[in-house]
Amino acid sequence: MNKKDVLKIFESHGALLTGHFKLSSGLHSEKYLQCALVLQHPDVAQILSKGLAGKFSKNKVDVVVGPALGGVTLAYEVARAIGVRGLFTERQEGKMVLRRGFSVSKGEKALVVEDVVTTGGSTKEVLGLIKSLGADVVGVGSVIDRSSEKIDFGVPFESLAKVSVETFEEKDCPLCKKQVPITKPGSRK
Ligand SMILES: [Zn+2]
Repeated sequence: MNKKDVLKIFESHGALLTGHFKLSSGLHSEKYLQCALVLQHPDVAQILSKGLAGKFSKNKVDVVVGPALGGVTLAYEVARAIGVRGLFTERQEGKMVLRRGFSVSKGEKALVVEDVVTTGGSTKEVLGLIKSLGADVVGVGSVIDRSSEKIDFGVPFESLAKVSVETFEEKDCPLCKKQVPITKPGSRK
Protein backbone atom coordinates (compact mmCIF):
# COMPACT_ATOMS: atom_id res chain seq x y z
CA MET A 1 0.00 0.00 0.00
CA ASN A 2 1.63 3.22 -1.10
CA LYS A 3 0.95 6.82 -0.19
CA LYS A 4 -1.11 7.40 -3.34
CA ASP A 5 -3.52 4.56 -2.46
CA VAL A 6 -3.90 5.87 1.08
CA LEU A 7 -4.63 9.42 -0.04
CA LYS A 8 -7.09 8.14 -2.61
CA ILE A 9 -8.95 6.35 0.19
CA PHE A 10 -8.99 9.54 2.27
CA GLU A 11 -10.22 11.68 -0.61
CA SER A 12 -12.95 9.25 -1.63
CA HIS A 13 -14.31 9.27 1.95
CA GLY A 14 -14.25 13.04 2.30
CA ALA A 15 -11.58 12.69 4.96
CA LEU A 16 -9.12 15.04 3.34
CA LEU A 17 -10.87 18.37 3.51
CA THR A 18 -9.95 21.61 1.84
CA GLY A 19 -11.10 24.90 3.32
CA HIS A 20 -9.95 27.12 6.19
CA PHE A 21 -9.36 25.32 9.44
CA LYS A 22 -8.22 26.19 12.93
CA LEU A 23 -6.19 23.21 14.12
CA SER A 24 -5.93 22.05 17.71
CA SER A 25 -2.51 23.71 17.81
CA GLY A 26 -4.23 27.06 17.16
CA LEU A 27 -2.56 27.33 13.76
CA HIS A 28 -4.61 27.82 10.60
CA SER A 29 -4.44 25.61 7.52
CA GLU A 30 -6.08 25.01 4.18
CA LYS A 31 -6.28 21.22 4.59
CA TYR A 32 -7.65 19.00 7.30
CA LEU A 33 -7.47 15.24 7.72
CA GLN A 34 -10.30 13.50 9.53
CA CYS A 35 -9.14 9.93 9.95
CA ALA A 36 -12.35 8.85 11.71
CA LEU A 37 -14.28 9.32 8.46
CA VAL A 38 -12.12 6.61 6.93
CA LEU A 39 -11.92 4.31 9.95
CA GLN A 40 -15.72 4.32 10.39
CA HIS A 41 -15.80 1.80 7.54
CA PRO A 42 -14.62 -1.53 8.98
CA ASP A 43 -13.55 -2.87 5.59
CA VAL A 44 -11.41 0.20 4.93
CA ALA A 45 -10.05 0.22 8.48
CA GLN A 46 -9.09 -3.41 7.97
CA ILE A 47 -7.18 -2.67 4.75
CA LEU A 48 -5.27 0.23 6.31
CA SER A 49 -4.56 -1.72 9.49
CA LYS A 50 -3.23 -4.68 7.54
CA GLY A 51 -0.96 -2.30 5.68
CA LEU A 52 0.29 -0.81 8.92
CA ALA A 53 0.74 -4.21 10.58
CA GLY A 54 2.75 -5.26 7.53
CA LYS A 55 5.31 -2.55 8.28
CA PHE A 56 6.15 -4.41 11.48
CA SER A 57 5.96 -7.95 10.15
CA LYS A 58 9.61 -8.55 11.09
CA ASN A 59 8.92 -7.64 14.71
CA LYS A 60 7.45 -9.85 17.37
CA VAL A 61 4.39 -8.00 18.67
CA ASP A 62 2.39 -9.21 21.69
CA VAL A 63 0.04 -6.27 22.10
CA VAL A 64 -1.05 -3.17 20.18
CA VAL A 65 -1.79 0.03 22.09
CA GLY A 66 -3.31 3.30 20.91
CA PRO A 67 -4.45 6.45 22.68
CA ALA A 68 -8.19 7.12 22.95
CA LEU A 69 -9.99 8.29 21.02
CA GLY A 70 -8.08 8.44 17.75
CA GLY A 71 -6.18 5.23 18.37
CA VAL A 72 -9.03 3.00 19.60
CA THR A 73 -10.31 1.64 16.29
CA LEU A 74 -6.85 1.50 14.76
CA ALA A 75 -5.28 -0.38 17.69
CA TYR A 76 -8.13 -2.88 17.56
CA GLU A 77 -7.84 -3.49 13.82
CA VAL A 78 -4.03 -3.63 13.78
CA ALA A 79 -4.26 -6.10 16.69
CA ARG A 80 -6.70 -8.19 14.66
CA ALA A 81 -4.33 -8.15 11.66
CA ILE A 82 -1.46 -9.39 13.84
CA GLY A 83 -3.59 -11.70 15.97
CA VAL A 84 -2.87 -10.17 19.38
CA ARG A 85 -4.60 -7.98 22.02
CA GLY A 86 -5.56 -4.42 21.21
CA LEU A 87 -5.66 -1.91 24.07
CA PHE A 88 -6.29 1.79 24.38
CA THR A 89 -5.00 4.31 26.86
CA GLU A 90 -7.06 7.12 28.33
CA ARG A 91 -6.27 10.41 29.92
CA GLN A 92 -7.19 10.62 33.58
CA GLU A 93 -6.59 13.93 35.32
CA GLY A 94 -4.26 14.83 32.47
CA LYS A 95 -2.21 11.66 32.75
CA MET A 96 -2.17 8.81 30.20
CA VAL A 97 -3.26 5.56 31.88
CA LEU A 98 -4.56 2.07 31.15
CA ARG A 99 -8.03 1.57 32.61
CA ARG A 100 -10.81 -1.05 32.38
CA GLY A 101 -8.55 -3.82 33.64
CA PHE A 102 -6.19 -3.45 30.67
CA SER A 103 -2.58 -4.29 31.46
CA VAL A 104 0.71 -5.12 29.80
CA SER A 105 3.20 -7.54 31.28
CA LYS A 106 6.91 -7.09 31.85
CA GLY A 107 8.82 -7.94 28.71
CA GLU A 108 5.78 -7.90 26.42
CA LYS A 109 6.46 -6.43 22.98
CA ALA A 110 4.10 -3.54 22.34
CA LEU A 111 3.35 -1.72 19.11
CA VAL A 112 1.99 1.79 19.65
CA VAL A 113 -0.38 3.08 16.97
CA GLU A 114 -2.10 6.40 16.31
CA ASP A 115 -4.35 7.52 13.45
CA VAL A 116 -2.55 10.79 12.76
CA VAL A 117 0.77 11.82 14.25
CA THR A 118 1.20 15.59 14.27
CA THR A 119 3.53 16.57 17.09
CA GLY A 120 3.80 13.07 18.49
CA GLY A 121 2.90 14.37 21.93
CA SER A 122 0.18 11.91 22.91
CA THR A 123 2.03 9.04 21.21
CA LYS A 124 5.09 9.78 23.35
CA GLU A 125 2.88 9.71 26.44
CA VAL A 126 1.64 6.23 25.48
CA LEU A 127 5.23 5.12 24.92
CA GLY A 128 6.24 6.42 28.33
CA LEU A 129 3.33 4.68 30.00
CA ILE A 130 3.97 1.32 28.33
CA LYS A 131 7.68 1.45 29.14
CA SER A 132 6.94 2.41 32.74
CA LEU A 133 4.87 -0.79 33.01
CA GLY A 134 7.89 -2.86 31.95
CA ALA A 135 6.87 -3.71 28.39
CA ASP A 136 9.14 -3.09 25.40
CA VAL A 137 7.89 -0.78 22.67
CA VAL A 138 8.99 -2.23 19.33
CA GLY A 139 7.74 0.66 17.23
CA VAL A 140 5.23 3.39 16.51
CA GLY A 141 2.87 3.18 13.55
CA SER A 142 0.45 5.76 12.19
CA VAL A 143 -1.84 5.87 9.20
CA ILE A 144 -0.85 9.47 8.50
CA ASP A 145 2.34 11.23 9.47
CA ARG A 146 1.67 14.92 9.18
CA SER A 147 4.54 16.05 11.36
CA SER A 148 6.49 18.99 10.02
CA GLU A 149 9.75 17.90 11.64
CA LYS A 150 11.14 14.43 12.04
CA ILE A 151 9.95 13.03 15.37
CA ASP A 152 12.31 10.89 17.42
CA PHE A 153 10.31 8.31 19.36
CA GLY A 154 13.46 6.34 20.18
CA VAL A 155 11.93 3.36 18.33
CA PRO A 156 11.20 2.80 14.61
CA PHE A 157 8.36 5.00 13.34
CA GLU A 158 6.37 3.90 10.28
CA SER A 159 3.39 5.51 8.59
CA LEU A 160 1.30 4.66 5.56
CA ALA A 161 1.46 8.18 4.19
CA LYS A 162 3.42 11.30 5.01
CA VAL A 163 1.30 14.33 4.33
CA SER A 164 2.56 17.86 4.63
CA VAL A 165 -0.10 20.33 5.63
CA GLU A 166 1.02 23.93 5.43
CA THR A 167 0.07 25.82 8.56
CA PHE A 168 -0.02 29.52 9.32
CA GLU A 169 -0.07 31.76 12.36
CA GLU A 170 -3.35 33.67 12.37
CA LYS A 171 -1.59 36.96 11.62
CA ASP A 172 0.11 35.49 8.53
CA CYS A 173 -2.82 33.39 7.30
CA PRO A 174 -3.63 34.06 3.62
CA LEU A 175 -7.13 32.57 4.09
CA CYS A 176 -7.88 35.00 6.93
CA LYS A 177 -6.74 37.81 4.65
CA LYS A 178 -9.23 36.59 2.04
CA GLN A 179 -11.90 36.43 4.78
CA VAL A 180 -12.63 32.76 4.09
CA PRO A 181 -14.95 31.52 6.90
CA ILE A 182 -12.98 29.40 9.37
CA THR A 183 -14.04 26.10 10.92
CA LYS A 184 -12.60 24.28 13.90
CA PRO A 185 -12.84 20.60 13.05
CA GLY A 186 -12.39 17.61 15.31
CA SER A 187 -11.37 17.91 18.88
CA ARG A 188 -8.22 18.08 20.92
CA LYS A 189 -6.89 14.63 21.57
ZN1 LIG B 1 -6.73 31.78 8.87
